[in-house]
Amino acid sequence: MSEPDAPVAPDYRPGFVATIGSPNVGKSTLLNAFVGEKVAIVSPKPQTTRRRLRGILTRADAQIVFVDTPGIHKPLHKLGRTMVREAEQAIPDADLLLFVADVTRLPGDDDVRIARLLVDVRTPLVLAMNKQDLLAPADVLPHTDAYRALGTFADWMMISARRGDNLDQLMRLIVQHLPLSPPLYPADQLTDQTEQAMVAELIREKALKYHEQEVPHAIEVLIEEWEERDNGMIFIEAVVLVEKDSQKGIVIGAKGSMLKKIGQSARQEIEAHLQRKTYLELRVKVRARWREDEEELRRLGYEI
Ligand code: GDP
Ligand code: MG
Repeated sequence: MSEPDAPVAPDYRPGFVATIGSPNVGKSTLLNAFVGEKVAIVSPKPQTTRRRLRGILTRADAQIVFVDTPGIHKPLHKLGRTMVREAEQAIPDADLLLFVADVTRLPGDDDVRIARLLVDVRTPLVLAMNKQDLLAPADVLPHTDAYRALGTFADWMMISARRGDNLDQLMRLIVQHLPLSPPLYPADQLTDQTEQAMVAELIREKALKYHEQEVPHAIEVLIEEWEERDNGMIFIEAVVLVEKDSQKGIVIGAKGSMLKKIGQSARQEIEAHLQRKTYLELRVKVRARWREDEEELRRLGYEI
């Protein structure tokens, strides 16, 4: 780790901001918008984010370490339980909690569950009501009132993570609540994930994009080989895990067409991210019920 280059002002404010919310409300989109780069994958499918990860924004006056978490929901399998625990564990470490909600709809069961989880938490709580770009004018008052009634919020704001509305204002609110201290990370670090973990996630994002229903939930991506060749190219071999033979067929597609499509769009993004020519080889393997198998989950790096 290198030292931050600029001298640190005595009123510098770094801190951990955990985003907490139901699945699909836009937590990862918001984190990416703040950091200014895609460090967390995003998809219209619920439960895309499976692990806690950090996105770091360094400014002249503050360093905000956003902690993206899996959506809090009622889990149906062991993986789901681990995901919810990952999100809950982010709460005690945070200097500020950002409760992210989808303001286009009224609070649902998951929002109420989260509100209950936060009742006794002393950490400042800020409510970010996202997707205001889709909010019908007639719904503004009833919806914002319903969310604000869920808890005791230090501040609240309507935003659009996708369009960028009110993000500067939200950032100002956040910084006010952070403690004084020197920065926590070097100024050029954007995430705590390894390159390999990020690449695995980018591949998973593409695999999710082209599939519906149960398939996205059954997909996991593992990097098996990562080699820098003499010509500067990076050779990556990755395995797409699914749970059933039928899913394997779907992911591979007719004559391999689907896997090729996933590989091509993933490679483009990996190359842009690594700034290197990349050779990406994808294979699909079946691991029955990996989401229920503690051993398997541990091997995949989940904390059980
Ligand atoms: P997460 O599960 O809470 O992390 O949600 P994601 O960030 O993965 O986003 C879920 C879906 O909502 C994706 O399709 C996003 O493009 C979409 N989304 C996120 N923020 C906004 C927003 O401000 N406006 C609109 N219209 N869509 C958004
Ligand atoms: Mg997410």
